[in-house]
Amino acid sequence: MSNLMTTTSTQKKLIELTSRLIDERSITPDAAGCFDYITAQCESKGLYCKRVDRNATQNLLITTHQAKRFSLLLSGHVDVVPPGDITKWRFDPFQATIADDILYGRGAVDMKSSVAALLMAVFDNLDHLKTQQTPVAILLTSDEEGDAIDGTQYAMAELTAMGYSFDYALVGEPTSVDQVGDTVKIGRRGSLTGRITLTGQQSHVAYASEHINPLFALSQFIHEARHTTWDLGCDHFSKTQFCVVSAQSHCVATNVTPHEATCVVNFRYCPASSDGTLRMQISALLKRTKMDYRVEWVRPNHPFLSGTGLLTSLMNDSAVRISGIAPVLSTSGGTSDARYISEYVKEIIEFGPRNHCAHQIDEHILLHDLQRLFEIYREFVQRFALKINTSS
Ligand SMILES: [Zn+2]
Repeated sequence: MSNLMTTTSTQKKLIELTSRLIDERSITPDAAGCFDYITAQCESKGLYCKRVDRNATQNLLITTHQAKRFSLLLSGHVDVVPPGDITKWRFDPFQATIADDILYGRGAVDMKSSVAALLMAVFDNLDHLKTQQTPVAILLTSDEEGDAIDGTQYAMAELTAMGYSFDYALVGEPTSVDQVGDTVKIGRRGSLTGRITLTGQQSHVAYASEHINPLFALSQFIHEARHTTWDLGCDHFSKTQFCVVSAQSHCVATNVTPHEATCVVNFRYCPASSDGTLRMQISALLKRTKMDYRVEWVRPNHPFLSGTGLLTSLMNDSAVRISGIAPVLSTSGGTSDARYISEYVKEIIEFGPRNHCAHQIDEHILLHDLQRLFEIYREFVQRFALKINTSS
């Protein structure tokens, strides 16, 4: 187990860097002043910075070498979700505040702390990476929490077109659950959203047959979808999950049944299903209501699985060494930018702080967790450089 108090000045710099990023109002897709600050920090240490912006989104590629082929890509985002009602926050969400060894502010876990810790891990290993000739790149975006079209997805395609390539990747999303180091993500479930409209016939409530009331049809559909087994799950994935996000109709008057009823549904699905099979299953259930319907499907996020390999092994050893915990491999949770990188690399993992208060009011990270996160990243980068060097 490492001694957390060994590097006081590094610890101070880490807190300062995280706080400085939290102070920027970088609500998605705006990086605010984050990239100017990070660029100045990186260039002063001899790193190279390149912007790959599009529309309102800013993307920053930071590299240890002036090269186009990189052994390792570290990825993160500086944009955050809106703070919500700021009067409910204990402190200003855009003014990093420390109270009782806890750092408060929007982005404290998702994911300005990871961005700061990843940067510091590279700064601390820079001599090592230079002498070992292990080129490392860091790709940061300001559009992960929003549409995520002009962010990592665009930057990876654009960089690839420019001739850049990356062998392995680590994304710093908050993946830990109870303790920093307990969970590594090796894939993600897919996400599919549909807006369903059932059309019946408006009628006097006293004379309306229930066969023309779209609300009855909608409730039948929801009931049957809820009790459907979509698949049985597959390796590393739990079974596909169906959820209703909203259900409504327009109430003209209390004695009039509605003409239409709508609902929004979402699937978090495993590779045992596909967006195509799920759409067909939904259509079959809707047909059973015998009512006219239409469905508008939103473009799906496909599931991916990177599996186990060099990175899962190195992260396991790093977490055990620093935290004393062997992380579990998981594919749970929401979607992330890892899916946009996975197609370009041999292996990708996601690893970061505890996600217990991501997107919440009073988002915060324990200073102890922040330090531990940095130490695990530093250990991981060090081990990676050593491994790549000895195996090449
Ligand atoms: Zn995030």
